[in-house]
Amino acid sequence: MALQKRRRGPARTAQQRSAWMRKSGQNRPLVQGCPNCGSPRIPHRVCAGCGFYNGKKVAKARSTEAAE
Ligand SMILES: [Zn+2]
Repeated sequence: MALQKRRRGPARTAQQRSAWMRKSGQNRPLVQGCPNCGSPRIPHRVCAGCGFYNGKKVAKARSTEAAE
């Protein structure tokens, strides 16, 4: 009987799951509007336009530098 050599770790499982989710939801748009500035943004990623994630500023904005 064939045995697998190594168990697949959580990171690898997550990578594959992300591919499954993308495949299953092909009609779903991959980019959504940012709730802060409204620019197109990939869900669960920091907005490239304003640098906000989850209502907080976590990264430097692309358009306006040193605004704070
Ligand atoms: Zn934004």
